Amino acid sequence: MNNVLIIGGSRGIGAAAVRCFKENGDNVIFTYHKSEIEADALRQETGALPVRCDVKFSDSIKVAVDKAVSEMGKIDVLICNAGIADFNLITDISESRWEEVINTNLNGVFYAVRHVLPSMISRKSGCIIIVSSMWGEVGASCEVAYSASKAGVIGLTKALAKEVGPSGIRVNCISPGMIDTDMNAEVSDEAKAEIKDETPLGRTGSAEEVAAVMKFLASEDAAFVTGQVIGVDVPRLNGVGGGFHIRSSVAGRNPRLTIS
Ligand code: NDP
Repeated sequence: MNNVLIIGGSRGIGAAAVRCFKENGDNVIFTYHKSEIEADALRQETGALPVRCDVKFSDSIKVAVDKAVSEMGKIDVLICNAGIADFNLITDISESRWEEVINTNLNGVFYAVRHVLPSMISRKSGCIIIVSSMWGEVGASCEVAYSASKAGVIGLTKALAKEVGPSGIRVNCISPGMIDTDMNAEVSDEAKAEIKDETPLGRTGSAEEVAAVMKFLASEDAAFVTGQVIGVDVPRLNGVGGGFHIRSSVAGRNPRLTIS
């Protein structure tokens, strides 16, 4: 049985992870930011304790980490799942929106890891799972900020795995393809069909299928797995530049830039 802290557990993939680890018999504390009603419903359903936190702020994450330690005694598994998407041409995105995406998707991971690592290092044991995206690997047109943030956590994962491996801590990254959650609510059926065509299994994934990979990575079965980026049926996307197909439908315009 592990003590698991899930950062960003109120909806989608994070909520599936809360259910998955609870069903596995683990102790789970999860964070929410805006979705208090969903978080409370998940608490009533699973018994996992929700804590409010905004990952853009280090102090806010520290409150959640401190609460998790005071409730569970220690954190064996940290899951950094909170994230936001952004659909903008690079020429349209404001500097403040850029910062919001980077602060949420990249700096939030840095803050969480920094607050949790010292006690893992002193115990010489721990597991960190970070949620990246296929766009962090191949890049998506109209999602430069998102792609940059998700590429950032891949670099963080690989470097940190080397840094803390000697302390007995494993760090891995999950890189999902298109998963059916609120994050993709704006994506048209036509665009989803294109992604399905590009995906080896011919469909989009479920939050539960990502959570199952998290459970594997947290388990003893993955004791010799670290520094890896695990794709969860990622589309081939070798053609027109990653997100072109999807995001052209999302943005409702041609996402290619013409600079004269
Ligand atoms: P959802 O939009 O369904 O859920 C996002 C979660 O992140 C919510 O729990 C939300 O909390 C939390 N969150 C967002 N901003 C903050 C913040 N500032 N502070 C704390 N928590 C925050 O998204 P998904 O479940 O789809 O995505 C989960 C992760 O998976 C993300 O990192 C995403 O980038 C990644 N991913 C998703 C893919 C997909 O196709 N869905 C594909 C590849 C990667 P709240 O609602 O309480 O505000």
